[in-house]
Amino acid sequence: MEEREEQEGLPIPDIFLNSDTKGPLTNCIQCDHDLTLGERFYMIEKVFKRYPQLESTQVLFEYAVCSECYERMREGLSKESMANLSAYMMTNTDFEAMQMRMQTYPDDPEKWLSHCMIKGMPKEELTEFQMGACFKGDRLVTNFMPPFMIGNVAMEEMNELLSKETKDEMDGFMDENFGIPPELRKDLVLI
Ligand SMILES: [Zn+2]
Repeated sequence: MEEREEQEGLPIPDIFLNSDTKGPLTNCIQCDHDLTLGERFYMIEKVFKRYPQLESTQVLFEYAVCSECYERMREGLSKESMANLSAYMMTNTDFEAMQMRMQTYPDDPEKWLSHCMIKGMPKEELTEFQMGACFKGDRLVTNFMPPFMIGNVAMEEMNELLSKETKDEMDGFMDENFGIPPELRKDLVLI
């Protein structure tokens, strides 16, 4: 009997590819670890800005970070801020709607990301949104955390839950990696 080897997980959705090269993001932004080796889990986060009048959406920034650096970054953030963030997400996320989208389109993760998972607003009504997902090698990993999309309204609320020191940490990360000034960092909350 021949055993069919099935690769676990879905391939990387186009929306999570490098927006310049259209290929995968290959290296951890912090330690440069080669993510294509598939040795470590990694997160991709992207922030988009919509220009409704121009009917265009631009990527403000995007990065991949390996599990080890991700853990280290989170440890560097204040416990209180992280607890506030998870409590906010646990109580405000519309898990039912998310589950429904996943069940309706099991093979099309981009459709899971059609609405803000917290406010339920469709992407078309948002001026900015942030997306994130977990991967290993060239596969999407959904068992720890499904891919998420969060719109500007929820991002602003989440930002207000952060302590001054956490904001400073996040500002430092953005400045160091992208040369992004603190007043723009509010567009990204590290999750
Ligand atoms: Zn790393």
